[in-house]
Amino acid sequence: MKYFSTRGGKDLLSFEEAVLTGLAPDGGLYIPETIPSLPANWQEQWKDYSFIDLSAAILRLFISPSEISDAELRALVDKSYATFRHPDITPLHKVGDKRFILELFHGPTFAFKDVALQFLGNLFEFFLLRRNAKKAGGEPQEKLTIVGATSGDTGSAAIYGVRNKANISVFILHPKGRVSPIQEAQMTTVTDANVHNVAVQGTFDDCQDIVKALFGDKEMNAAYHLGAVNSINWARILAQTVYYFHAYFAALKQLPADASLQFVVPTGNFGDILAGYYAKKMGLPMAKLAVATNENDILARFWRSGKYEKVESAAASGAGDSTAPALGASDGKQATAAGGVKETLSPAMDILVSSNFERLLWYLARQGVVAEEGQAATDEKEKRASASSILAHWMSLVKTDGRVEVPVAALELARQDFVAERISNEQTLDTIKFHFLADPSYIADPHTSVGLAAAALVAPQNAPNTTQIILSTAHPAKFSEAVSRALQGYSEFNFERDVLPEEFRGLLEKKRNVIDVPKADVELVKQVIKKYA
Ligand SMILES: *Cc1c(COP(=O)(O)O)cnc(C)c1O
Repeated sequence: MKYFSTRGGKDLLSFEEAVLTGLAPDGGLYIPETIPSLPANWQEQWKDYSFIDLSAAILRLFISPSEISDAELRALVDKSYATFRHPDITPLHKVGDKRFILELFHGPTFAFKDVALQFLGNLFEFFLLRRNAKKAGGEPQEKLTIVGATSGDTGSAAIYGVRNKANISVFILHPKGRVSPIQEAQMTTVTDANVHNVAVQGTFDDCQDIVKALFGDKEMNAAYHLGAVNSINWARILAQTVYYFHAYFAALKQLPADASLQFVVPTGNFGDILAGYYAKKMGLPMAKLAVATNENDILARFWRSGKYEKVESAAASGAGDSTAPALGASDGKQATAAGGVKETLSPAMDILVSSNFERLLWYLARQGVVAEEGQAATDEKEKRASASSILAHWMSLVKTDGRVEVPVAALELARQDFVAERISNEQTLDTIKFHFLADPSYIADPHTSVGLAAAALVAPQNAPNTTQIILSTAHPAKFSEAVSRALQGYSEFNFERDVLPEEFRGLLEKKRNVIDVPKADVELVKQVIKKYA
């Protein structure tokens, strides 16, 4: 299996090259040359597989055995999920008659990104060790320096993914004093020698600007081989396809044979749900995937209007565009000034554009090429390149105009596989409350709550035999502010007793590993990297 860039289409890379490169030099994202179909007897053969068995079987379809052998792949997967606390890795939890929660937060940092980042860290280490083993004595060893910025929720998953890995060091920048105490403690209490928390006196945007400047710095790149672990990395999407299969088998064991499943996915950068799209295209039976966004709703607006648009247009915010009803009205919050991300109660989904959406747009462009040119018109490589040039044009419009409107046919294709809903802060809080009142032992985190609220909105359009599986992306203790705000009035609610896991107790008092940078200045951060990498 080879990979190519969504914006190029012609040059093919190995899995290893695609994973180590991350973002393609032309600005595109890597996708597989074909989406493999499932083995003929997969349902029979895989139905009693563990998460790890499934992971090995599914990843095998996307990674050539000549790149990673069966035994090596199995060892990588084994090691990656040994850090999870639950024997099922991603267990299902029933919440009512036709709903399950798929709990993705049993990894080391209590959020769904662990599923992919535990694997990605091991994969990086595997590739580097293999490359270095081939080097002659005296030749310099290949190393990787992971650099990233975090507003709190995602930095810890990256740190836990690469802690204590050979040939890798990691520098995660966070805005000093602007990260919640628990999240700050999760990151800074990791004391492995290759982990460097950099507390920058400034904002999250300052941290992000510094990281961008570092990646744009040729000298730094050459000297330190800078790498990113953000959600555009193909290996992350791939690792996430597994829990869709795992949940499918687990749910069907509890349901009538004719049951149909719908996955509802709280999403921001479109990574989690994109994995579901790949599972669907591989042949996993499912109803339309449901996109659940918070008030940063570029995706929900796309499915309403076919416009992928960064900033709310005047028409969309109330001047009578019937395809895009007034937004932000439900809780009285105004859209922020042009270009701004709204701060919501589900901060891990606070985005302006969804970086992985480009991959779906490529498939929409590709199907358009087939429709226009007919199956026999050109060879596969030509069709791919045409789709890439359409996609590259769309992305250039997003860059210059902040928006693109896809052809009606492309929107219709997108609507065949997805529905979408936007959930306000108020709905997020109400939904946490609603589920707590129905069952006081069940407390949803705000991201999961966005999924639950969207599930209720899309349910009436579903066939009667449909059961919904809502992806739960974080443990409620990680986002205590929203949970406490939703449940503070209830005397039966006790955060310490009902929510806080054992692992978080005493965390705030543990020894810290932080490097302070007194000014948001890229030169100061460079000095830190030079000193510690
Ligand atoms: C990252 C994250 C999400 C969003 O995932 P995407 O892949 O961007 O859709 C949702 N919830 C939590 C808790 C996250 O950390």
